[in-house]
Amino acid sequence: MDARYKSRDIERRSLDVDGLKRSFLEWLVYSVGKDARAATRRDWFHTVALAVRDRVVDRWMDTTRSYYQEDAKRVYYLSLEFLIGRLLTNSLSNLGIVDECRQALDRLGLSMEDVVDAEPDAALGNGGLGRLAACFLDSMASQGLPGYGYGIRYEFGLFEQRFENGWQVEYPEQWLQFGNPWEFARPEVLYPVQFYGRVEEFRDSVGDRAYRWVDADRVLAMAYDTPVVGYGGDTINTLRLWSARATRDFNFGHFNDGAYMKAVEQKILSENLSRVLYPNDATETGKELRLKQEYFFTSASLQDILRRYLQHHTTFENLPNKAAIQLNDTHPAIGIAELMRLLVDQHALRWDDAWEITRATFAYTNHTLLPEALEAWPVRMIERVLPRHMQIIYEINAKFLNRTKARADGDNARLSRLSLIDERGERRVRMGNLAFLGSHKVNGVSALHTELMKQTVFADFHEEFPDRINNKTNGITPRRWLKQANPALSELITTRIGEGWISDLSQIAALRDKADDVVFREEFRRAKRKNKKRLAAYIARQTGEEVLVDSIFDVQVKRMHEYKRQLLNVLHTIALYNEMRDNPTVSWVPVTKVFAGKAAPSYHMAKLIIKLINDVAKVVNHDPSVHDNLKVVLLPNYNVTAAEIIIPAADLSEQISTAGMEASGTGNMKLALNGALTIGTLDGANVEIREHVGPDNIFIFGMTAEEVNDLRASGGFNPREVIASNPSLKRALDMISTGAFSPDDRNRYHPIVQALTDGGDHFLVTADFADYCRAQEAAMHLYRDPEEWTRKAILNTANMGWFSSDRTVNEYAGEVWDVHPVHPNHDGEGFR
Ligand code: PLP
Repeated sequence: MDARYKSRDIERRSLDVDGLKRSFLEWLVYSVGKDARAATRRDWFHTVALAVRDRVVDRWMDTTRSYYQEDAKRVYYLSLEFLIGRLLTNSLSNLGIVDECRQALDRLGLSMEDVVDAEPDAALGNGGLGRLAACFLDSMASQGLPGYGYGIRYEFGLFEQRFENGWQVEYPEQWLQFGNPWEFARPEVLYPVQFYGRVEEFRDSVGDRAYRWVDADRVLAMAYDTPVVGYGGDTINTLRLWSARATRDFNFGHFNDGAYMKAVEQKILSENLSRVLYPNDATETGKELRLKQEYFFTSASLQDILRRYLQHHTTFENLPNKAAIQLNDTHPAIGIAELMRLLVDQHALRWDDAWEITRATFAYTNHTLLPEALEAWPVRMIERVLPRHMQIIYEINAKFLNRTKARADGDNARLSRLSLIDERGERRVRMGNLAFLGSHKVNGVSALHTELMKQTVFADFHEEFPDRINNKTNGITPRRWLKQANPALSELITTRIGEGWISDLSQIAALRDKADDVVFREEFRRAKRKNKKRLAAYIARQTGEEVLVDSIFDVQVKRMHEYKRQLLNVLHTIALYNEMRDNPTVSWVPVTKVFAGKAAPSYHMAKLIIKLINDVAKVVNHDPSVHDNLKVVLLPNYNVTAAEIIIPAADLSEQISTAGMEASGTGNMKLALNGALTIGTLDGANVEIREHVGPDNIFIFGMTAEEVNDLRASGGFNPREVIASNPSLKRALDMISTGAFSPDDRNRYHPIVQALTDGGDHFLVTADFADYCRAQEAAMHLYRDPEEWTRKAILNTANMGWFSSDRTVNEYAGEVWDVHPVHPNHDGEGFR
């Protein structure tokens, strides 16, 4: 080999400061095309990212090669969303070269923070569901599991949120505008995906009835691969995202002018498929483009999975032993019909064999019980967009319903509930039922949610298939959410218990003893204070508001949704404001209420709540009579990057959804792991957080899911009575309804007041208000005792080990996927 290339090759892999610095300079000049004098921060970010990527590529290829050599069973995580965030610190940290990179940049006169800050936040998801997928990628790679992520490379991620006059305004999130240094475009990896057309019946070679999908429109799915760096850099997995490309079926040269323009228009239209992420969280809109996105990425992924399988196999019976496909919610559930189509129509398998293979390959994760969020596509739409799939769904349904006990018992009501087709009103395909039926395992995401699944949406299916439902409580990756986001605390932890916790979070339990160590408590508080100063500076930059670092940072960060009950928190804020004004001589514990979260652009109530928070902030923050004891801030554009600054600084974590409505939550886990005490309802994973941190170290309030259910079953309650009997609630609501926070438009909040009163208060805000205030008082009381508060905060951190996504992913690997770690061989030169 040419010596010059050989030395460059070594350079590309060197992990020391000098090697990094030399490669930064080389990349800056030869790939970014700038010299150091002209380079912007963004140029430096691209430079550093490309140089870091170099250090990943060999190991990435080793990993992939090892999977092939061992013909390992892979798991394919199909998700319409991956809420990844920034990757630079993540890659450096998992490779173990953060300090080396910082020093190399230092020698070039650059600040690491500036370079890190120039990276756009990859927001290819809405909230918890998408972030879970990203945490799972980190956990699979960090544990050496052969796991692939498959999704869509949206050109526009989740919108950027700004506040204009206190209202949310959405702007396009152009994360790819300046290119994405992490990804590898694969223009040769293209799969056709069809839409519309019709189905033709014919006789196959042995005279059996067969079907082909003809006259369809075609779009191509093109792959972009992003390496997923596991902790320690041993395993580098792949996230493959699909981008829509028009086919070249039309020859531009043959058209006259008019047809030419039409052809170009057509090309643009078909490429719109991967243009933008739907900004809805926990609500579906039922738009055709969304259905096409779901089918687009699912079909491309399945074709890719089968191609990979067929490199080692000639028949399909081993597919379930070599591929596990996990459906992240029902968004990719059309994949069940698609795999049947591929196996039966394209590979000529018998229906029953294909069905057995399909069911043994797929597993499905349910993420919500909210009826408005359960996908149900109109039959007419599927018939038009995916005609062959509609036939397949009918066939699956007919065979299933024919076999059920319900039919034998003549129980038609049960039969219609089990049906894949909802016949009430416009006929619709119930994607949850399809996903359930086509999977060998179906899981919920917290113990409570899984239990409720068995009792509600899937009660009949659970009776039919009692072994299918299982629980996999969500988790979070300790690498991003403690090590990287909270260096102050993670360095402190490491000085006491070593760094084993980073790859085995159960080891963090060793901190329990330290809760009684006065020196450790002091250091723990110092780390928290450092993070609070960082957040205070961020708040000042973002909102212009100065907050007291020594106030309680009471944090509610998550999507704006009525069920998450930001309104309950706002009502408490107003009540506290009134109390402070009424009792100016009392020595109050200063409180900073921190909110952040986006509302779906069409969710008017959630947007009105945003405006209310901003209006309340305007009044409270400028009222001298509260003496800075209360501040309210609503930070704009909540995303992973903002979460990484907010979460380590929180004292109190608001997890206050109406019991029974939050499937799990993962923000709750991140906050508790970073030493925030939770104030919350017994909902989602809060139930398990209480079990782990201990009931004395969490503030639980409000109705239980069972009580909510009973209340609803008995016809609800009268919120007006509750309001009348609670003067502080009544006063807060009166202020909202009479325009105390909206003097410019006194009726602005009429819809909110209406929903909480005559509207019946569906989310039970008024019903839980008194108990919530009691829990808040208990929290403020405890905060007066810093030693006791810190002791409990430490016990939160120390007891959150179980909530690592490593644990979650291991449970899936053992109980659902049957996949095992592979240790890549990094010794040889491989094919290079
Ligand atoms: N958005 C971001 C950026 C997150 O990191 C998370 C998870 O922690 C969520 C949304 C979901 O938050 P929650 O579980 O509180 O709904």
